[in-house]
Amino acid sequence: MSDPMNVLAPEHRRLRIGDAWRDAAGGATFVVEDPATGKTIAEVADAGVVDGLAALDVASKAMAEWAATPPRKRSELLTATYRALTERSEEVARLITLEMGKPLAEARGEVAYGAEFFRWFAEEAVRVEGRYNTAPAGGYRILTVPKPVGPCVFVTPWNFPLAMGARKIAPALAAGCTTITKPAAQTPLTMLFLARIMEEVGVPPGVVNVVTTKRAGEVVSALLADRRTRKLSFTGSTEVGRVLLRQAADNVLRTSMELGGNAALIVCADADLDVALDGAMVAKMRNIGESCIAANRIYVEEPVREEFTARFAERMGALSVGHGLDDGVDVGALIDEASVTKIDELVADAVNRGARVLVGGERPDGPGHFYPPTVLVDVPEDARILEAEIFGPVAPIISFTSDDEVMAKANDTEHGLVGYVFTRDLQRALRFTEGLETGMVGVNRGLISDPSAPFGGVKQSGIGKEGSHEGILEYLDVTYAAIDLP
Ligand code: NAP
Repeated sequence: MSDPMNVLAPEHRRLRIGDAWRDAAGGATFVVEDPATGKTIAEVADAGVVDGLAALDVASKAMAEWAATPPRKRSELLTATYRALTERSEEVARLITLEMGKPLAEARGEVAYGAEFFRWFAEEAVRVEGRYNTAPAGGYRILTVPKPVGPCVFVTPWNFPLAMGARKIAPALAAGCTTITKPAAQTPLTMLFLARIMEEVGVPPGVVNVVTTKRAGEVVSALLADRRTRKLSFTGSTEVGRVLLRQAADNVLRTSMELGGNAALIVCADADLDVALDGAMVAKMRNIGESCIAANRIYVEEPVREEFTARFAERMGALSVGHGLDDGVDVGALIDEASVTKIDELVADAVNRGARVLVGGERPDGPGHFYPPTVLVDVPEDARILEAEIFGPVAPIISFTSDDEVMAKANDTEHGLVGYVFTRDLQRALRFTEGLETGMVGVNRGLISDPSAPFGGVKQSGIGKEGSHEGILEYLDVTYAAIDLP
């Protein structure tokens, strides 16, 4: 099999600014590693503030022409991006696996998911509407005119190197905005490849800019401090999200914040256990558990605790761990050593406080950042693992005896991204849907991400929605005109 890096020529491992692929001012670079081996796979440009501002300059200059481009034309460019990503799915997937570590089958899933944002927003681009109505007291008319917010700054995480950018870039372009994306330093290659694809399909220069950097703090804060920036969309940790919200406040920016989660997955005694097991496996293990919507705490009602736990542990123990590009691998490498260490400490803390390890629990020797699928039971309430975002293949199982009790526990967190409930009782499902303090609920489903659905959290999991019709509204301002007509 050929080297996945072949798809991204050396001249495209640089900054995409306007119509150029260029080195960072001063020529700095940084290396990207394969997390499964620790080996260097590429060197990319390391942008500084001056490069970030150069990208903002071209994005600002491109804004008027892009906003005035007919919606149908913008839509066609998004459709062309969808098609190109779909046709080149295998190349993109292999690049994602190489830099991020997820198994190839999951990377293919991410390409399909990421590409779908371009198709969805190609369809939304031509459906942006205003209103015209008579003022209630008569005498004049009310006209609303949607307008693109302006140049957008995007900061994305490493866990979905394509999809987290796609779900910002696609709606922004559909609305008529220009963009600057700063991908995570650990996974910049996929975003550069996307920019290359968008160049090839004919997206005009200046509309999609990509600035790779190891100096996120200084580059992003310079962008947010510049009055030409009109919108920040960030996906990442709640901790960094708070910092960026403070910075965005100085310039009163529109913001969309997709932050961390601490999802409870609730299995009621009346659930179809086959469905609950499938759902729990997906909700826990998709993306190696490195997902903001990963099940972080699994609550099982006492009458089915034993059966669910035994069957879940058996399935977790049967997963194979290895390099994501190898055949038959279910669980790839975690992103870095810090992540493995954090997870190992969370497991040790739980065990020290009385939890039992049913499966896994021991970090392996050897190269690469691996951690085995792990199931913990008898996890005490004060274990840190119930509060921290695990972001890995570890499942703490806790039993419960009443809906009120489990609802209170599920909601006892600063996060509010998603919850999952498994039950055959419709009223119970609706009570959980209404009672969980989350932006999303999976009912008898462990997979909820869908470009046609509004994704986003409440509480400290974020502000705003991505995907669906709501997704494009995040990139539109509304001007209201009062028109005199006695
Ligand atoms: P992170 O550390 O917050 O980093 C996210 C992005 O922010 C990266 O591009 C990072 O750049 C950048 N960054 C870090 N510090 C910054 C600063 N001071 N100023 C400006 N930018 C800064 O998060 P992560 O570890 O990459 O991703 C995992 C987190 O993302 C988890 O908490 C997960 O729940 C969350 N997430 C949320 C969603 C959602 O939709 N709600 C989806 C996916 C992930 P560097 O790479 O250079 O550090």
